[in-house]
Amino acid sequence: MMSTAAPQTPSKPVGRIVTRFAPSPTGLLHKGHGLSALIAHGVARRLGGDFLLRIEDIDAGRCRPEFAAALERDLTWLGLDWRRPPMKQSDRFGAYAAALDRLKADGLLYPCFCTRREIREEIARSPSAPHGPDGPLYPGTCRFLSHRERTEKLASGMAHAWRLDVRAATDRLDQPLAWDDLGAGIRKGDPECFGDVVLARKDTPTSYHLAVVVDDAAQGVNLVTRGRDLFEATHIHVLLQRLLDLPTPRYFHHDLLTDDDGRRLAKRDKSATLETMRARGISAEALSRDLAPMVEAAMHAITRRFAA
Ligand SMILES: [Zn+2]
Repeated sequence: MMSTAAPQTPSKPVGRIVTRFAPSPTGLLHKGHGLSALIAHGVARRLGGDFLLRIEDIDAGRCRPEFAAALERDLTWLGLDWRRPPMKQSDRFGAYAAALDRLKADGLLYPCFCTRREIREEIARSPSAPHGPDGPLYPGTCRFLSHRERTEKLASGMAHAWRLDVRAATDRLDQPLAWDDLGAGIRKGDPECFGDVVLARKDTPTSYHLAVVVDDAAQGVNLVTRGRDLFEATHIHVLLQRLLDLPTPRYFHHDLLTDDDGRRLAKRDKSATLETMRARGISAEALSRDLAPMVEAAMHAITRRFAA
């Protein structure tokens, strides 16, 4: 997971900057979302670019249309506007299937029939189960199935996810992975820190990682601004971009909001939703003022890299 920092040089112009905010409608937006949206929107405005909205609603079990409507209301209240109608990931399963088929044809995916419980038990049996940013790594059980076992299980209709064989994928690269992080410098991609990630779930024919990469490219996003909690996910995203011949955007991972005790603001904290704040009579201007130091710090860090 160690990455080597390279000297920071001003980024070459990439044409018109396109940023995005991409929330999941699984609940109401809170103050932390507001921060993220204000940064993406502010940077696009300052650099004369476009700000896009994407609704990440692949998880039919947890996403609700009323939350999708609420988030547009909240963002409008915050004074944000977006140039095109929002992209909805639930409309995009065909594009994800095409990307998945390509990786399958390249021999980089394998079906995983494990239940969560089987994975837990397998990890518990292993004396030194490696850990990644999301917890213990998948032990690779189904990577070792024979062709025959795989064919039989698939033919029997057994539920399965599709995992990326990360080692096989990285072995195939002709150039090392890297990305230009406007906050952290040039970072070396190390996707093996995640193990064999799921690219299509048992219940959903895609995953967060796959959908994000396909959609950023489809929307022409060339500057991804998002919270530090997603910094490590970039290791996987740059690998998928390379495997799918998609461009790697520039990234900026901003600081996360914390409470008075320095803990990350909990998403479940109802008092921090934008709707609650509005109901309590807090104005969008007051909230923007409150967030301005963090928004300005992020915008400064980003825009100075574009000043050649
Ligand atoms: Zn498995």
